[in-house]
Amino acid sequence: MPELPEVEICARQLSTRLGGGTIRQVEVHDRKLRLPPDLTGRKVTEVCRRGKFISLNLDDGRRVLIHLGMTGWFEFTPPPRYRMAIGTDDGTAYFEDLRLFGQMRVVSAAQERAILAKLGSEPLSPGFDLTCLKHTRRPVKVALLDQRLIAGIGNMYAVEALWRARIHPKRPANRLTVDELRRLRRDIVRVLQKAIAYGPEIYELQRFKVYDRKGKPCYRCRTPIQRLLLGGRGTYFCPGCQR
Ligand SMILES: [Zn+2]
Repeated sequence: MPELPEVEICARQLSTRLGGGTIRQVEVHDRKLRLPPDLTGRKVTEVCRRGKFISLNLDDGRRVLIHLGMTGWFEFTPPPRYRMAIGTDDGTAYFEDLRLFGQMRVVSAAQERAILAKLGSEPLSPGFDLTCLKHTRRPVKVALLDQRLIAGIGNMYAVEALWRARIHPKRPANRLTVDELRRLRRDIVRVLQKAIAYGPEIYELQRFKVYDRKGKPCYRCRTPIQRLLLGGRGTYFCPGCQR
């Protein structure tokens, strides 16, 4: 499921392929996407990411606001099935989305601001800190997934960051020590940056340290990785070295 790194990779690719170009064709195969017919002729001035959202900024001030949902992804050669395609003179981006939870709509700049204002802090911005965790008693793993506190982290990168920081996912967020918060902040940034560095091949190349490794030995202490449900999500951790 796309989280901040996958969305960032998509946004960078869209920026390279469509940024600065004028939209020549929009092909919609799924009426749920409800895109207006007047996008052709508009220039894509910039492609931005905030949390798990991508926005294509158009030269008339409108934004194409995109959320990849559970399986959304952009390809630049036509895949067998795609929900929509958007093309400039420089290339075409095909929106592939097997499970159909991805969303795409055209909004004004003010509407976009209102939507993005609900998001919490951006992990890759210079001022990122975890003071938001001091105000919630929820398990730290659940709090990390709350997009209103921190934007862009999902199940995979939350468990990876907690493993690296040696913090048990069930710990109440407001009980973490200053040192644990410092480690967690550092490790969130590290796992996200490392994932972004895989680039467009991320789904083929990426190997997780703890996510989806139930029963396999911890890379640090050899204790078998366990899985528990937290907030309805499968949560992987090492009972040996995550306290
Ligand atoms: Zn361990």
